[in-house]
Amino acid sequence: MSIAKNLIQIKESLPTAVTLVAVSKTKPIADLMQAYQAGQRVFGENKIQEMTEKYEQMPKDIQWHMIGHVQTNKVKFMAPYVSLVHGVDSLKLLEEINKQALKNNRVIDCLLQVHIAEEETKFGLNEEELDELLNSATFMNLKNIKITGLMGMATFTDNPMQIRKEFQHLKSIFDKHQKPATHNPQLTTLSMGMSGDYQIAIECGSNMVRIGSSIFGHR
Ligand SMILES: *Cc1c(COP(=O)(O)O)cnc(C)c1O
Repeated sequence: MSIAKNLIQIKESLPTAVTLVAVSKTKPIADLMQAYQAGQRVFGENKIQEMTEKYEQMPKDIQWHMIGHVQTNKVKFMAPYVSLVHGVDSLKLLEEINKQALKNNRVIDCLLQVHIAEEETKFGLNEEELDELLNSATFMNLKNIKITGLMGMATFTDNPMQIRKEFQHLKSIFDKHQKPATHNPQLTTLSMGMSGDYQIAIECGSNMVRIGSSIFGHR
């Protein structure tokens, strides 16, 4: 199947409230252009340098999402154009994004990554760290970032019950933060679900899915 056909088929299967991030990491510009020509405007990359090269070569009406782990010393390269940073899991990183956003006279939208998987290798905050961050004075003074939601990854397993349980857990954390104290940000985006588990994620309340291999083929 072609990239355009894969994309259109997935898009048609998604509820209208769910945003599709086409994860194009490692794929050449020609592949991204096929998705672009089929109407896709939101692309996800996991390396800042690669994303920046693609940003420079691709049409300018694309929204670029950084979905990978972010190194603080590279934030400056994406600050002029990035549309959403999914994987924020420390105050230090938020402060750097804020600093670079300010330099570019922008407010950069970010999602806080929450650790829901059983594996230890995956990044993210636990619930306590999440609350701590959102209630810290440092965070409240950052004017050039906006936390617009949460992101999470389920355990890499073929047990759908476990995946469902982890996504439900993240949804419950998301819901808990829907009643914000006056200073708390309004969380509207729940980014969860990849090629192998996005249907479960949507059933559990995801409104943003990050899909790579089902669109572009295996990496
Ligand atoms: C690569 C990646 C995806 C997409 O994975 P697929 O299984 O190819 O759909 C989604 N989210 C993150 C954070 C990724 O790194």
